[in-house]
Amino acid sequence: MGIAKILIVDDRVENLLTLESLLDEPDIELVRATSGIEALGLTLDHDFALVLLDVQMPGMDGYEVAELMRGNKKTKHIPIIFITAAFRADVQVFKGYECGAVDYLFKPLDERVFKSKVGVFIELFRHKDALSKKTRELDRKLVELEELQQQLEETNERLHLLSTTDGLTGLLNKRQFDTTFEEEWQRGIRTKSPLSLLLLDIDHFKAYNDTYGHAAGDDCLKKVAMAISDAAKRNADKVARIGGEEFAVLLPETDPEGAQHVAERLLKAVSSLDISHRGSLAAEHVTTSIGLSTIVPGQGYVQRDLLETADAGLYRAKENGRNSTWYHAPGPLKN
Ligand SMILES: [Mg+2]
Repeated sequence: MGIAKILIVDDRVENLLTLESLLDEPDIELVRATSGIEALGLTLDHDFALVLLDVQMPGMDGYEVAELMRGNKKTKHIPIIFITAAFRADVQVFKGYECGAVDYLFKPLDERVFKSKVGVFIELFRHKDALSKKTRELDRKLVELEELQQQLEETNERLHLLSTTDGLTGLLNKRQFDTTFEEEWQRGIRTKSPLSLLLLDIDHFKAYNDTYGHAAGDDCLKKVAMAISDAAKRNADKVARIGGEEFAVLLPETDPEGAQHVAERLLKAVSSLDISHRGSLAAEHVTTSIGLSTIVPGQGYVQRDLLETADAGLYRAKENGRNSTWYHAPGPLKN
C-alpha cells in the first residue's frame, strides 16, 4: 500500500502544526502550504489524495483556491475538506459545496470526527489507486491476449493450409479434395446444376522418374500443377493432386461441352510446357491423359458415380494412345 499525500493549507503555522499532529501516520505524507497561491502550485506538482483547505486566508481565500482547482484538469477531482473557524452558517456551507467542496469541518477540530472523515478519503484514494493499477494491469493483459489471439489465428491458418494442401505443388490435397467434392456435390443437389470432374494422369510418369530421377520428377509435377492451375481459370474450379502423378479438377455448374473445353485447354497447357520426356511412348515431351464426366448431382446418381465415370474416361483416354481426353457419359440410371 503506497503513501497517501495530503496537502494541508492554512495561513497560520500553529494550525498546520495541529493538523500535522492529528495526521501523524506512517502511511500519510503531509505537504504544507501557507497561502492559496502556494497551495495551487503544489497541486500541480504532486498527486494528492486530499486537500485540507483553510477557508479564511489573506489574499486568495479557500473558496478561490477550490474554484481554481476545479478549473484545472489535473486538480479538479482532488477531494477538498474546507476547514473554517467561521460560525457554522448554512450560507457558507452552500458556498463551499457550490464550488465543489466535498466536506466541511469546523474549528476547533474534533479529533474523532476529523480523523474519521480524513480516513474515509484516504480509503477512497487507495481504492481508486488500486482500481487504476488493476485497470492498467488489465489493459496490459488485454494487449497480451490480443497478441496471443493473433498468433493463434496465424498458427491455425498455417495448420489449415498444411492440412488441406499438397506440400509439393500447393494444390489441394486428396483429403481436401474429398471434402470439396462432397460440398460441391451437395451444392449441385441444391442448385440442380451440372458438376463436371476431370481426372488427369501424367503419361508414363514412372518412366520419367526412371529416366531423369526423382528430383526432376518433382520439378515436373510442380510445373504440371501450375499449368493445370492456370488453365482452370475460374475461382470456382478446384484443382487437387490426388495421387503421385494424378490430378483432379472439379468444375461446378459446368456442362459436358464446357468440361470438354477445359480438358482440351489443360491438355494443351501441359503439352506446351514442352518438358522433354525420352521415356514416353506418347510423345517426346510430357503429356497427360484426361478422363472427364458430368452429372447433375442427385438426379438418381450418387457421388461415386461421377468419380467412376470420370475414371472410366481416363482409362479410355489411355487406351486411346494417351495424350488425349475422353468424355465418358454417366451410365443409365439403375432405377
Ligand atoms: Mg486562516
